[in-house]
Amino acid sequence: SPSNSITGLSIKTRDELQGLSESLKTMEGKIQEYIKSLEEATYRAETDSMTTLLNREAFEKRVNEVLDSGSFDGYFTFMMIDLDNFKDVNDTWGHSIGDEVIAACAQAIRENFRSTDFIARMGGDEFAVFYKSPPSLKEVEGRAQAVCDSVGAVRVRGSIGITVSVGVAVFDGCETHEYQSLYFEADNALYDAKAQGRNGFIVAPGSRTPGDLG
Ligand code: GH3
Ligand code: MG
Repeated sequence: SPSNSITGLSIKTRDELQGLSESLKTMEGKIQEYIKSLEEATYRAETDSMTTLLNREAFEKRVNEVLDSGSFDGYFTFMMIDLDNFKDVNDTWGHSIGDEVIAACAQAIRENFRSTDFIARMGGDEFAVFYKSPPSLKEVEGRAQAVCDSVGAVRVRGSIGITVSVGVAVFDGCETHEYQSLYFEADNALYDAKAQGRNGFIVAPGSRTPGDLG
């Protein structure tokens, strides 16, 4: 009869219904496995395996999603962070301890931000952060200093330490921005921080928030 026909499938006995129910359960399990493997593949594709931070491509993609959404009110900060004289660590202690230093610094940087902020290893000894910031340059400067302090406190194998330089750029979310120009401003500020002796931060000229007026 039409009442026991599911999409043209005709079910006549209890055994057939039982069989169908088992097939559906198997199918559901397979779909769940498939979703899990897709999620794992996405995580691997977006993550820098040495530090578990975002990789450069995923970072750029996420920043662009925010910039394209057009619904970003308030201010955001783009930070470029690069370890100071890291080549000396490799030369003195070897590449594998160098890797440990990079991983430890990544965790020290991460401590200063929320889990929803975008934090990436851009490659080598270079990191970037993008986060929604309060309308206060003081807060942003405090956070840049905190990044320098936390990396400065890192000790690998009990004694090996390092410092960082940070370039900071603050932007008004109500204006239109291109990823490349944000990157350029923060990276230029980083270059200035290196030139001014390292172990410190420079805020890009033009970074202004309403909080600075009060
Ligand atoms: P500066 O203060 O100007 O940044 O000097 P630096 O010595 O840190 O120089 P720079 O940032 O230009 O070079 C970073 C070095 O990091 C170059 C490369 O040999 C090394 N490096 C890049 N990737 C890795 C890595 O995955 N592991 C290790 N151990 N070293 C790396
Ligand atoms: Mg460096």
